[in-house]
Amino acid sequence: MSAAANPSVSIQDLTLSFGTVSVLQSLNLDIAEGEFIVLLGPSGCGKSTLLNCIAGLLDISDGRIFIKGKNVTWEEPKDRGIGMVFQSYALYPQMSVEKNLSFGLKVAGTPKEEIDKRIARAAEILQIEPLLQRKPAALSGGQRQRVAIGRALVRDVDVFLFDEPLSNLDAKLRSELRVEIKRLHQRLANTMIYVTHDQIEAMTLADRIAVMRGGVIQQLDAPQAIYNRPVNRFVAGFIGSPG
Ligand code: ADP
Ligand code: MG
Repeated sequence: MSAAANPSVSIQDLTLSFGTVSVLQSLNLDIAEGEFIVLLGPSGCGKSTLLNCIAGLLDISDGRIFIKGKNVTWEEPKDRGIGMVFQSYALYPQMSVEKNLSFGLKVAGTPKEEIDKRIARAAEILQIEPLLQRKPAALSGGQRQRVAIGRALVRDVDVFLFDEPLSNLDAKLRSELRVEIKRLHQRLANTMIYVTHDQIEAMTLADRIAVMRGGVIQQLDAPQAIYNRPVNRFVAGFIGSPG
């Protein structure tokens, strides 16, 4: 799948520095509606920085970001139509799972029947119905991460952003939740941008992978194309291509 004429997310000439340290320089990326894009690269290459710029959590130095055709470059994170899932679950420890899911909706003034409907749907999709009255401390890592995904799901966002959501899980849970996220994407069919340094996650989840190094996208293509035809030795080495 390649980016369409009306991309879901369009990043144009994005430049970001921390003080005098330049992390992203004039980066461009168009993501099609419904596409699953993985940002893949070694630690420190700028994946989280790019994701945080899209989320509106960092002020960019230059460039523009469009979501669903709207220039959101200076919009608040809550007004961008995005939901973010982090490596650490960032759940409210004192609240039940149900309250964790409903809190943001209540703050936004969503009517109670609508909140209940959305929680029921999210709980069914993520198979967390039996956990709704529990506190986060009583959940496993995998269950917590499902709840974290649920918080984005109930907000009915256009674009899901994931930052290494499986990194804190053991290998078995990681592969289980990977399948779960893939299923979620197939069911919801919305745009997902997923950061990881794990090649297997990238190869199994992505419609297209953006391989990053030093703040630069080295190659942007379907997993098989990158594997079979890496553009340089860095990409070949990182992906583990035979040649
Ligand atoms: P990744 O997510 O790919 O591991 P990051 O986006 O977190 O990489 O970081 C990219 C670069 O920006 C790194 O060199 C990192 O040290 C630097 N960096 C990230 N956040 C900050 C910050 N708040 N202040 C200064 N430098 C930062
Ligand atoms: Mg990171």
